[in-house]
Amino acid sequence: MIVLSLLKMLTKIKTDLKVGDIMTKNLLLLSTGGTIASVASNEGLKPGESGEQLLKMLGAMPFNVTVKDILEMDSSNIQPEEWELIAKKINEYRNDFDGIVVSHGTDTMAYTASMLTFMLQNINIPIVLTGSQVPMNVPLSDAPDNMSLAFTAAAKCKPGVYLAFNRKVMRGCRSVKVRTTSFDAFESVNFPPIAQVTSDGFQIMREQPAVNGQCHLNTKINTNVSLVKLFPGFDPNLLHAMADNGCQGIVIEAYGLGGMTFIRRNLVAAVGKLIRNGIPVIASSQCLYERSDLTKYEVGKQALLEGAISAHDMTSECAITKLMWGLGQGMNVNEIAKFFNTDVAGEVTL
Ligand code: ASP
Repeated sequence: MIVLSLLKMLTKIKTDLKVGDIMTKNLLLLSTGGTIASVASNEGLKPGESGEQLLKMLGAMPFNVTVKDILEMDSSNIQPEEWELIAKKINEYRNDFDGIVVSHGTDTMAYTASMLTFMLQNINIPIVLTGSQVPMNVPLSDAPDNMSLAFTAAAKCKPGVYLAFNRKVMRGCRSVKVRTTSFDAFESVNFPPIAQVTSDGFQIMREQPAVNGQCHLNTKINTNVSLVKLFPGFDPNLLHAMADNGCQGIVIEAYGLGGMTFIRRNLVAAVGKLIRNGIPVIASSQCLYERSDLTKYEVGKQALLEGAISAHDMTSECAITKLMWGLGQGMNVNEIAKFFNTDVAGEVTL
């Protein structure tokens, strides 16, 4: 009798415990370079530390971590070929680990995070990008904090692509590098951070959108695109020159809610011409915060009438990578318009 109730009690305790509480998570570090792994040289700071060396400097962690060095690059040199490699490596290992941390330079980390969001839709584990403003091997660097935050997020967050930096975990496709030297280098734009570290420890404040389907790696992208910042005096012929040189899609960082010039240097007419020639033109805003809305002012409505597609409240990093991915799938102008009116992974508020 006593043995039976003891057994019942033990079974209850076991079912009350969540798996994460009793099992050490198996995490993978994919190291790609960046400041976090940089060393001083006569040519300037450049990546030189391996993932193993980063882990050694970080010290003990409550996770089983496996390391793979996949690149050793400053992220200013990271381009679509490297996005494809990183996405392929994540896809190769995503069923063998509970979460993956990608150490990466900060300069283009937001672009990589956005592109991985599209290439690895419905990812089944947390993928967390991180880096630092100061190399790991420098005393008082922000690297150890960022790295342990990233591992914690990879162990505790729901599946999704994240960027972890300075005690905040952000949705990857909403993050932007906003400061060149401060530790608080990234912001989560138009969507609050997913998790943060407070005096109460690691706090998850909101979840990622639910995964609704299988993850299939899809790295097909079209890199013949351009991201243009509008300024007073911009010559619309430059857009035609881009198209004449093979550009197949353009994101214009327009003014305010998405307004574009239509007198003298008639950008709106140029946009209409491009769209009629099958080149989608996306209107985003130069303002970092809040949405673009082409319906409010004449300068937006005219662009809308010509077929300009609103980026809504997406970051420019996300808009250009979404455009590359959409064009890579063979989408035409109408399909790109629909795609930009679809929230794929929490990148846009519609
Ligand atoms: N130039 C470096 C990089 O992006 C900057 C950094 O990592 O903070 O690789």
